[in-house]
Amino acid sequence: MTTIEATGVEVAGVRVDTRHFIDGLRVASSDTFRNTSPVDGSFLGDISRGGQAEVDLAVQAARDAFPAWAALTPAQRGAILHRIADLVEVRIEQFAIVETMDNGALLRSHLRGVMPRVAHNLRFFADYAINDLGHPDFETRGHNNHVTWDPSGVAALITPWNAPLMLATWKIAPALAAGDTVVLKPAEWTPLTASLFAELTVEAGLPAGVFNVVNGYGNQAGAALVAHPGLSRISFTGSVPTAKSIARAAADNLTPCSFELGGKSPFIVLGDADLELAASLAVEQYDNAGQVCLSGTRILVHESIADAFAAAFAKKAGELRQGDPRDLQTDIGPQVHQTHFDRIKGFVDRAAAEGADIVMGGEPNAELGGLYFRPTLVKQPAVDSEIVTQEVFGPVLTMQTFATDDDVVALANGTEFGLAAVVVSGNRDHANTITKQLVAGTIWVNCFFVRDLRAPFGGSRKSGVGREGGTWSFDFYADVKNTVVSPHGWKE
Ligand code: ADP
Repeated sequence: MTTIEATGVEVAGVRVDTRHFIDGLRVASSDTFRNTSPVDGSFLGDISRGGQAEVDLAVQAARDAFPAWAALTPAQRGAILHRIADLVEVRIEQFAIVETMDNGALLRSHLRGVMPRVAHNLRFFADYAINDLGHPDFETRGHNNHVTWDPSGVAALITPWNAPLMLATWKIAPALAAGDTVVLKPAEWTPLTASLFAELTVEAGLPAGVFNVVNGYGNQAGAALVAHPGLSRISFTGSVPTAKSIARAAADNLTPCSFELGGKSPFIVLGDADLELAASLAVEQYDNAGQVCLSGTRILVHESIADAFAAAFAKKAGELRQGDPRDLQTDIGPQVHQTHFDRIKGFVDRAAAEGADIVMGGEPNAELGGLYFRPTLVKQPAVDSEIVTQEVFGPVLTMQTFATDDDVVALANGTEFGLAAVVVSGNRDHANTITKQLVAGTIWVNCFFVRDLRAPFGGSRKSGVGREGGTWSFDFYADVKNTVVSPHGWKE
């Protein structure tokens, strides 16, 4: 590592440091990687590219900072987390535009939903540790059982690019609130908001070393981090193959892992569904240009209403405006990166070559050029085709019909994933019958994306390992301890 001249860049008028953040200081690497914007291909900066040496420094800093941070009360830690949230709220516009330039997601969403949510994540977990975390004592033959959640050590957090700061704070907030210290490795395609966030932690008075950021590629900085023997926890959101490699690395140290992985979630429209509602919710599955792990990308519609639903869907989807994500009128922006764009195009091209019926989109948006891919619908693809069984993670939905409840349950549960499901129905009993049989971490009935931080969140099957959210987050980040006290032996 050497100090290099370029220490930061200006993105949409906001200065962003492009170095790591270790022990409260900026640390540069002599190696860098190039970061460009999916919005217009513009250059966003050369980012310090970390590896083993930077990871070693960061983990050591986090280990050194741990005892003092762990010794604070939840209220003392919470006060600092609230101060960080205050600072995020003051700078929502800066965070929003930098995130939009970095990952291409809508500025409108960042301003109205995502960045306020970042602040809320911090406040929620801070307050949860203070007020809600607890279990009633219970008695065993006169002995008292008392459960506590103790700080565990250093949590390594590996995060994806589709909602960079939002997903990072989903992990940072409970880890810090639980008394752990943190090393964050943001996705290499979207490193900028983690750096802005690090800046705020200094301003908010978070002690040096409690929160650290190492930038770099997954197979270098990421791999070095998850193999580090100094960790107490690894929380990862990303793809199944990466999770397998992390699990292998973690196995050597028996580091506990929490994984939130991909999905291929069903979007079920029962024969008794309100068609307008079903069509609106279905079109929402294109949110974030389809780069949402929770999306119900497989539309399964009852044959009796399939034509009427398809017409309502086509009308609503036709109203979607694709364009520059900085324009507040835009509904669908670009894909995050050329590599990802090519992957999506590959899925659609192969489906077309196999004779799939692509009734909408199916190609890049020629007017916009760059990384803009048209919202796409593939009708009645073969049940075992890759477009139905594998996660595309782009604006690509499939539509299949079914005849009976048994059929739709079999189709819905017919992939290796189990992250989420959407059911649209006009009848509570009918909806209940279906939801009971679905394998999924989260099911939405007649709604989509309603997320309460108290709820368990995660995936079944290959969609994840464990749950985070509410108490589940603390169960993971903390060391859960039971103290059994006998009624005998006291001298007083
Ligand atoms: P995607 O396929 O969705 O881009 P990945 O699972 O490859 O997602 O990446 C998600 C995060 O995991 C990123 O921060 C990436 O750098 C990191 N990553 C990738 N490979 C590894 C690895 N072998 N070890 C640790 N982290 C990794």
